[in-house]
Amino acid sequence: MPAPSVPLSHYLTTHPGVGLRFTCDGCQASHDVSMEVVLDRLKHRGLGDERTGVREVAKLATRPCARCGAMAWGSRPAFSVGR
Ligand SMILES: [Zn+2]
Repeated sequence: MPAPSVPLSHYLTTHPGVGLRFTCDGCQASHDVSMEVVLDRLKHRGLGDERTGVREVAKLATRPCARCGAMAWGSRPAFSVGR
């Protein structure tokens, strides 16, 4: 069993304003979303909360890539948001 990834709450606590970067496995296109916004969506859809792992979020994505149409996302923290 793989180790669980770091929960969103960790980043929200240690890096206020941090984003989440979604990267398409198909074409490597990426976009950043505020972690607060991601969390709101997860809660709204009943899919997760601040304990959800930062990598698990990508598996909950419901929209295909706008560029190549793939539904294969990776997600990781994006500390450069707002720079
Ligand atoms: Zn793509």
